[in-house]
This record gives sequence, structure tokens and C-alpha cells, in this order.
Amino acid sequence: MFTRMLKLRLLNAVAPAYFFAATTATFILHFCLFIPTIFPNPDTSLRSSSALHTTVFLFLMFNALGNYIMTIKYPAESDNEIAIPVCSPRCSDKVDSHYLLNGRHFCKLCRKVIFRRDHHCFFTGNCIGNKNMRYFIMFCIYTSCVCMYSLVLGVAFLTVEYSISFENPLTFLTLLPLSTAYFFMGTISGLQLFLVLMLYIWLGIGLVCAGFCCQQVLLVARGQTWCQMQRGELVDNRSPWRANLKDVFGARWILGLILPVQTVEMYSEDTDGLKQD
Ligand SMILES: [Zn+2]
Repeated sequence: MFTRMLKLRLLNAVAPAYFFAATTATFILHFCLFIPTIFPNPDTSLRSSSALHTTVFLFLMFNALGNYIMTIKYPAESDNEIAIPVCSPRCSDKVDSHYLLNGRHFCKLCRKVIFRRDHHCFFTGNCIGNKNMRYFIMFCIYTSCVCMYSLVLGVAFLTVEYSISFENPLTFLTLLPLSTAYFFMGTISGLQLFLVLMLYIWLGIGLVCAGFCCQQVLLVARGQTWCQMQRGELVDNRSPWRANLKDVFGARWILGLILPVQTVEMYSEDTDGLKQD
């Protein structure tokens, strides 16, 4: 039990570091390698396309990081419960949380009472509940977009710079083992191996985020949380999916799709807690 908790705490510190390292690497690769190499000539039409790519990349990055910050800035914790409360009789002592009442959980990693807890996100080091769910979903969407966009530019860069053909769909399967072998044989540089590794990281994160985001949106539409699903506690939610989505995404949801801003009015937790029960 103690070692499991220690592992979780370690993960809670390593995952944000990994996130920041990947973000920094993506930034550097974009501005130092991809944009100057793929659009090298100061031709008018090409210059405008490099400006377009920079704008798209910065827009996606701004939204991904903006929503990341908002997820941390508006945590899902309950403000009026700071002390560790007594568990409800229904509490199943899970590794990372205690179940309390009215959808409240005590997160052992955050050391806080979390209102309508969904799960603990290790990349943000925060719990995801109904207050920051929207930012979390937008963060997933934009991270997925940044990764896929970087993947396309990375493939373009490898094609232009190292004449690697990606026409054969099997290229992606053999690229990493071949690159690793060539690296140790001294045929290719460390940079090229790093680029190939980044392609796989972008593909991996992109797919995981997209899948996770779809699942999360479905859960929100059904008015359920990841916690409830894991506990096999299917709530008889009578409110329609539109109301459930509006509850999380707010009335000004269109604005929230393009900018990391607050779109949900902060209402009192107590009334909402009663409504939930
Ligand atoms: Zn937590």
C-alpha cells in the first residue's frame, strides 16, 4: 500500500516534467528545424505559407497550454472542506482516493476534497472534476491537434532533409528499429534518431489524447464520471445529454472552443451537491 502510494507520487512528479520536456522539444523543433527547412526560400508565396504554419502552430500551442494552466488554476476541489473528512460507509478504500458523499472524494495525492471527482490527472498533477473538466477536455483536444500537426511537419522534414519516403505505410513500423540500428552503426546522427523518436511520441500522445477526449465527452454527455464508471455505479441520470454538456461546457461554449477562457458561471457547490444527490 505504501509503495503503491509512493509510485503514484513519483508519477505525479515525473509526468508534468515529461509534459514540459516534450512541449519544449516540440517548440524548438518547430522553430529551429521544421519551419526553416520545409519553407527555405524567402519567396513571397512560401514566406506566407511559413507564416501560416507558424500561426497555426502557435494557436494550437496557445490553446493547449492555456487550457493546461486553466485546469490547474481552477481545480475541482471543494473550497469549504479543508479538513480530512470521515469516510462514508460506502467508501471503498481505493489507492488514490476515499469516497465520501454526494460525489465528493478525498484525493490522497492532492490531499483535498474533490467535488464530483472524475480522476486524478498525473500530467497536470491535479484532480479533474466538474469545475475543470471543460479545460481538461479542451486540453486533450488541442494537445492531440498539436501532436498530429507536429507529426505531419516532422514527416515532411524527414522527407525533405533526409529523403526518407513515407509512401509505403510499413515505413512507420520499420522506422524506429532501423533508425536505432543505424544510429549504433554510426550511419545516422543523434538528431535524426531523436526526430524519429519524437514522431512516435507525437503519434502516441496524439492518439491517446484523442481517444481519451472522446471517452470523456461521452461520459460528460451521459452525466457520469470516470470514478462512477470504475465503481460500476451507473447513475440514473434523467437530465438530457444537452443539459449535461451545457453543465460542463457552459452557455458560451463556442468561445471556449477557440480560447482558453472561463465559460461556466461559478455557482455554489452546496446547492449543486444537493441536486446531485
Ligand atoms: Zn487528485
